[in-house]
Amino acid sequence: MTKTPASTAALQLADKKHHAHPFTDPKALAENGSRIISRGKGVEIWDNDGNKYLDGMAGLWCVNIGYGRNEIAERVKSQIEELCYYNSFFMSATPTQIELAETISSLTPEGLNHIFFGTSGSDANDTASRLVRHYWDLKGKPTKKTIISLIHAYHGSTITGASLGGWPAMHKMGSTLQAGYTHIMPPYWFEFGRNQSKEDFGLKAAQALEDAILLAGADNIAAFIAEPVMGAGGVIPAPDTYWPMVQEICKKHDVLLIADEVITGFGRTGEWFGSFTYNIKPDILNMAKGLSSGYAPISATAVSDDMYAVLSAGGEISHGFTYSGHPVCCAAALENIRIMKDEKIVEYVRDVAGPHFQNKLQEFADHPLVGEARGVGLLGALELVRDPKQGEKFAPEKRVAIRCVEKGFENGIIMRAIREVLEFSPPLIITTQEIDLLFDRARYCIDEVAKEEGIL
Ligand code: PMP
Repeated sequence: MTKTPASTAALQLADKKHHAHPFTDPKALAENGSRIISRGKGVEIWDNDGNKYLDGMAGLWCVNIGYGRNEIAERVKSQIEELCYYNSFFMSATPTQIELAETISSLTPEGLNHIFFGTSGSDANDTASRLVRHYWDLKGKPTKKTIISLIHAYHGSTITGASLGGWPAMHKMGSTLQAGYTHIMPPYWFEFGRNQSKEDFGLKAAQALEDAILLAGADNIAAFIAEPVMGAGGVIPAPDTYWPMVQEICKKHDVLLIADEVITGFGRTGEWFGSFTYNIKPDILNMAKGLSSGYAPISATAVSDDMYAVLSAGGEISHGFTYSGHPVCCAAALENIRIMKDEKIVEYVRDVAGPHFQNKLQEFADHPLVGEARGVGLLGALELVRDPKQGEKFAPEKRVAIRCVEKGFENGIIMRAIREVLEFSPPLIITTQEIDLLFDRARYCIDEVAKEEGIL
């Protein structure tokens, strides 16, 4: 018997009663009811009442190959039939885990050939944090424990992830910020460096890393973690001068470099990894989201040969999750990567979709509400300001970016807001026509907010 679909009102009521949501104000949820999303295909999703949206955020920066690919469903089904689960603890492995570890190693930057599996970006960052500290213990430098990261960065929601991240509200909730984390100025020219050239500011932001290392003493610093392009924190590509200097500083002071590629991995920047786009040579590279295009929860921590040689000589690695290398999630990831390769999705982002998307984004640069349009590949952001010439900001209570997002929902597109920044990260398979549609509608929404503010 086919089940009659539940009404939106009934779902909202049950949701309100029983479902505790992440990153949601329960009071607002109770007042307004949740938005129930029921179906997805390609770059589009439908809510429970049949309204269609072009998903300009690929879910949460993750559905890279688009919704509804049956091949993944088939591969997952056959994996469940063959072997639904087996662990990778105590010297065990499954063929699917091994195949995925080998496949990931073939895609990562040179020398990152040892893959530790998890199920989320957050746990990948916990893994990286434990491994770098363990590494320094084994190297006889047990004081090297502090990890430096960037203000505004998002690295996850576990205690370690939130401590690594640079979001004050997350530090405050539950007194989460642990000892052993330092946050420094990010390479965010629009907020921190508009009085100088981008090149000079890039050097200044990199210098902030060296200053922090020197202040604490290099003997106390284990690692620096950053995304090649900050994602959730506002889509912030660093000036060209930033990464080369950061790389040098890490080397000079014996500080390990962790690239958090949870968003930038798997084609988002027009390469398999953002580390290729910015010529970064990390000691650890974390990935999640695009690894399975969100079809299954899986993350991976790629560890360098040099680091792994030290870790391997250090006895048992006392770390791992029941679902590390879950065979079903590995199967979904393998099929996702096969699709990306066969359909040349990374090349499509690099040569077609990315350039078109960036051109369209730059058309907003002289909009009266836009202070900066920035991005790379299929990542984009618009910095909304009251007066672009003076850089005068809106008061946060104005909620201008959130109001644009709300108008987006009314007009069939999904964008995301952080502070006064509008963010875009569509599925990588988006066509150039769909990119035009996304930005045409975004412009309409931004114009509407500009009119409400008496600016247009
Ligand atoms: N790192 C980065 C860069 C992220 O963007 C995110 C999630 N947005 C995470 C880590 C955490 O991933 P997850 O939500 O899967 O734990």
